[in-house]
Amino acid sequence: MWVVKREKQVFVLRLGHRPFRDKRVTSHVGLVARAFGADGLVISVEDAAVSCSIGDVVERWGGDFSVSVEQDWRGYLKRWKGLVVHLTMYGLPLDDVISDVQSVTGDVLVVVGAEKVPPEVYKRADFNVAVGSQPHSEIAALALFLDRLFKGGGLRKDFEGKTRIIPSANGKFALSD
Ligand code: SAM
Repeated sequence: MWVVKREKQVFVLRLGHRPFRDKRVTSHVGLVARAFGADGLVISVEDAAVSCSIGDVVERWGGDFSVSVEQDWRGYLKRWKGLVVHLTMYGLPLDDVISDVQSVTGDVLVVVGAEKVPPEVYKRADFNVAVGSQPHSEIAALALFLDRLFKGGGLRKDFEGKTRIIPSANGKFALSD
């Protein structure tokens, strides 16, 4: 039974990160996770370039977003007490399951892959969710999933950063402390 709780903490577990190939994509997974309302990124392989690039954004643009490394990602998945949502094109359509995911209270771990994701992740997941049943990108899948999960609220979050944009129709305006 899941316990009723108002605030969900949402973390993104990036599996199979290959430092040589995936630096940019994994950094973008983290930046999208942060910008769309998640609380942190967990990577299974240490990569200072990823932690630093996301850390620099957090330092300048605000929020509490964390980056951590869990080499024993199997143990991490085992210990995770909340819901596990695995984004995969083989899963059930996002539109069919999002209300079930929203209705389950407790923290959420969203798993995205890089290379082939082992079958045990499909078994461990409470929901295997497809953002369309076609192969595309973990960045796009994560953005759409978080946007639906938070009903657009992630994009309205106030990050209270040192640097803040003043939205404008025809220019680039920002304030810096
Ligand atoms: N070939 C890999 C496999 O079979 O697991 C997937 C590679 S894909 C570029 C990387 C990640 O993007 C996947 O692990 C998944 O998390 C995500 N992804 C790609 N297409 C998706 C879709 N249609 N729905 C949900 N997630 C998707």
